[in-house]
Amino acid sequence: MSDIKIEDKNHSARFKPVRKGKKPPKLLAVVHQSGCTGCEVCIAGCPVDSIELVPGPDPLNPGYQQMVEIDLARCIGCQNCSQDCPWETISMYQHDDAFIAWGNETLASKLYIDPPPVEEKKDEEIA
Ligand code: SF4
Ligand code: SF4
Repeated sequence: MSDIKIEDKNHSARFKPVRKGKKPPKLLAVVHQSGCTGCEVCIAGCPVDSIELVPGPDPLNPGYQQMVEIDLARCIGCQNCSQDCPWETISMYQHDDAFIAWGNETLASKLYIDPPPVEEKKDEEIA
């Protein structure tokens, strides 16, 4: 994954309630996607609904080998998912370290995308 990512403003997660509180959480959860089986156990235990299923790598069969991704913008660091995952493939990181870990451990993201090229940005600003 590239270092620079932005929140996908078109993903349905952006319409969910935003995280409350003024301070960011001390810890954030990151999925090591290479070890995720897509069992969805973690999704059931997340109190803020910040874990999303990500399609598998084959665009012709997106339901195969699905995995999950955690929305760092909404995670409150409660640690439920890291304790619940039967495959021990979610780890808690200090807030700033989590963004580095996310870049290293995320194989496929639906929540965060590459920023548009500079030319596109200019077009958007002009419109
Ligand atoms: S740490 Fe808590 S809030 Fe964050 S993704 Fe896991 S279950 Fe959800
Ligand atoms: S509980 Fe673990 S293996 Fe199951 S979907 Fe969540 S991260 Fe993946």
